[in-house]
Amino acid sequence: MEQKRNTKQRQLILDILTNSSRPMSINDIYQKIIHEIPTIAKSTIYRNIDSLLNQNLIDKYYLNDNELFYQIKDNTNHHKHYVICDSCKKMFDLPLCPIHEIEDVMKKEGFSISDHYIQISGTCKDCLKKKNE
Ligand SMILES: [Zn+2]
Ligand SMILES: [Zn+2]
Repeated sequence: MEQKRNTKQRQLILDILTNSSRPMSINDIYQKIIHEIPTIAKSTIYRNIDSLLNQNLIDKYYLNDNELFYQIKDNTNHHKHYVICDSCKKMFDLPLCPIHEIEDVMKKEGFSISDHYIQISGTCKDCLKKKNE
């Protein structure tokens, strides 16, 4: 019985992440999943997320002052980076990953980079406009 419940929780979390075009925090996932499983604990979500990470099914990002966000891995194997507006918390895609060039250089040095994170803070166009009004 326990096993069955775990599978259901895991599948729900996978579905939620699959249906989201943006990375989600544990809180975001929690807000969605309580509609399906009102009794779920955040620790359960953390545990499931950990196992999905171990199985390489999702990516994690540090955004927003090191808050962790999770996103389903797309099968194209190409990853994205994001930046969040400090004021309205809206999320934007970074147009490119500057780390790939660095990766190539490091490879020539014999160093293999296994993972990387990009942290950028700032204010979006709309919030800048509001500030100047
Ligand atoms: Zn903003
Ligand atoms: Zn990158």
